[in-house]
Amino acid sequence: MTAKLMLLVEEAEKVIAGFPVSISAEPVPLAESLGRCLAEDVFSPGDVPEFDKSAMDGYAYLSGDASTEFRIVETIAAGTPPRVVVSTGQCAKIMTGAMMPSGADRVVKRECTVEENGFMRIVAAETNVNVRRRGEDLKAGKLVLDRGTRLRPAQVALLASLGVAVVPTARRPRVGIITTGSELVEPGKPLAPGQIYDSNSYSLSAQIREAGAVPVRLGRVADHEKATAKAIASAIDECDVLILSGGVSAGDFDYVPSALKQAGFTLYFEKIAVQPGMPTVFAGKAEKCAFGLPGNPVSTFVIFEVFIKPLLLRKMGHACFPQQQPAALASAFSRSNCERTAFVPVILRDGRAELVSYHGSAHLHALGRANALLRVPAGQKAIAVGCTVDVRLI
Ligand code: AMP
Ligand code: MG
Repeated sequence: MTAKLMLLVEEAEKVIAGFPVSISAEPVPLAESLGRCLAEDVFSPGDVPEFDKSAMDGYAYLSGDASTEFRIVETIAAGTPPRVVVSTGQCAKIMTGAMMPSGADRVVKRECTVEENGFMRIVAAETNVNVRRRGEDLKAGKLVLDRGTRLRPAQVALLASLGVAVVPTARRPRVGIITTGSELVEPGKPLAPGQIYDSNSYSLSAQIREAGAVPVRLGRVADHEKATAKAIASAIDECDVLILSGGVSAGDFDYVPSALKQAGFTLYFEKIAVQPGMPTVFAGKAEKCAFGLPGNPVSTFVIFEVFIKPLLLRKMGHACFPQQQPAALASAFSRSNCERTAFVPVILRDGRAELVSYHGSAHLHALGRANALLRVPAGQKAIAVGCTVDVRLI
């Protein structure tokens, strides 16, 4: 058996980043656009505000009109255009968001006035003009959202405000999940001796969904080479990216790399200098690609976050991927072996990264308590308390 070449984390990232992707558009109703990425730039179809409007409930009148009282010529509700021109000594009672009447150019808010017998008097000084001018937020034709933007609630609101009913989003990649392992049982069923629950297909589904892609759970395959190759071959038609969990290590029943080859895939790498997740496999066949992840639950989780999520976002045209952020280490960190880049569960609170009790790649409970991963560069054995470290939120 030949030794497998081990790539540095940065090298593996580069190989995956070099995998060609094609982005296709899929228009979706606005209500379904949350979490999706824009396939096209969006321009404002009109001015915002659409017309001069009052920013307050109050009275619209002419600036410079020094009258002691103003006759109220009409009441303007939001949504109803004004009918009367306002002249000196006059005002229109106006609601927030209602269209300014001709003649008037400022609004005194209701709290600064007294209204009596059809007249309004200003009783407190008001310095604000309280008018939102047509186009002061946005001019028609202006670029408002870039292609690749991931739509969050604020962007959904913006699109709605521009009258966009159908959003040009990127098609979401379908990501197949196959779990390998004869010991695995679906949650909800009783465990026989030696069996454990399958958590990876659930963590991967959740991570894929959170990344904005579509998880396709393709079930479990037993630890047999032929069965694994067959499962890969039939899965690949149903998805753009395939993730296999388990079966990539050095055990007697670890068949994923050879099964990928049997199914016609080229293996780009089979080992990354990362902890956890070292025996990660990345393979491609035409425009499809596949990852084989070590089955320990923290490994699967970390490898998805670090290597697979950026690929899925790129497949949706989303280039801006939040990488690390700095934090102060709350307690000293040390490790006995520092050959690999490590990702360690931490709690990020008030800019400080707190280490949690962590026993390694099977310790899902530690991950469950954490909200971030601390990145420890290869070669670094210890980090003193208070040092600035890199963390990424999970
Ligand atoms: P493997 O990578 O197949 O050698 O598995 C490594 C460890 O991860 C073993 O203890 C497996 O039982 C466990 N494991 C594998 N697949 C899963 C899974 N889907 N959910 C939870 N644990 C798993
Ligand atoms: Mg296994």
